[in-house]
Amino acid sequence: MRAEVAERVAALKTRGKTVGLATVLVGDDPASHVYVRNKHRAADKAGMISIDVNLPADVSQEEVIAAVQSLNADDRVDGMIVQLPLPDGLDGNAAVEAVLPSKDADGLHPYNLGLLILDRPGPRPATPSGVLRILEHYGVAISGKRAVVIGRSFLVGRPMAIMLGTKGIDATVVQAHSRTPDLAAVTLEADIVIVAAGRPGLLRPEHVKPGAVVIDVGTNRVDGKLVGDVDFAGVSRVAGGITPVPGGVGPMTIASLLVNTVEAAERTAALE
Ligand code: NAD
Repeated sequence: MRAEVAERVAALKTRGKTVGLATVLVGDDPASHVYVRNKHRAADKAGMISIDVNLPADVSQEEVIAAVQSLNADDRVDGMIVQLPLPDGLDGNAAVEAVLPSKDADGLHPYNLGLLILDRPGPRPATPSGVLRILEHYGVAISGKRAVVIGRSFLVGRPMAIMLGTKGIDATVVQAHSRTPDLAAVTLEADIVIVAAGRPGLLRPEHVKPGAVVIDVGTNRVDGKLVGDVDFAGVSRVAGGITPVPGGVGPMTIASLLVNTVEAAERTAALE
């Protein structure tokens, strides 16, 4: 995916259009700094300009919004990310809403989430897009299959469930969450299980139908180590396919951000 993006960036450059990805990072959460650094590295490698705005944790909401607005007005910026979560006391939703929908690399602006519900073109949320690309790449049959998505956040679980059920993808989707009383009862019915709960070890072998495909979105730090939401060793013995953490969905999220950014740049170039 990243090679494809690099080719599209190079093609735009020959037409005099550069492609820029900007990030807004507030505070000093080490994990967020690592995520943002990885996004910039990937953008650089794809030949994009990357713009890194770092604000201190004690910044005001108005200053965060002003930083977003200044990137909205910056012609070098085609795609933008506000790295969530913001530190306590700041409103991440308001910051995302301040991003111009046409520059929304994460696909999380309410306007773009509306386009998703309407099944109209627009940038799609990056993590669920990355998950779909994994399933497509490995030839996992989705149409007519039963999929369970564990988690209902606006960032991952909810858009994931919508995308899997969209016409043309056609899974029959069940959305599980923290109030689902018997998780195994629903997951054991599933051909595809997507876990985005932020609970290490949540999905165990007894939750999985033999041969089912398991996608682990979780990223949790346990004793300094990055782990997913799935008991990888146990579930691998039952599943027909499984993604690792790290090295599974995370890199695909970044690749999807780059796709949203180059698509935004192509739309801009078409208007020029
Ligand atoms: P969130 O905390 O906003 O949402 C978690 C969801 O999981 C909630 O909807 C909740 O109902 C559900 N849940 C919690 N405990 C549960 C349980 N015991 N059983 C069933 N459902 C349960 O989190 P989020 O932002 O959606 O992120 C989920 C995980 O995915 C986190 O570990 C996060 O770090 C990771 N994540 C990874 C990427 C990536 O690129 N790999 C991107 C975004 C988020």
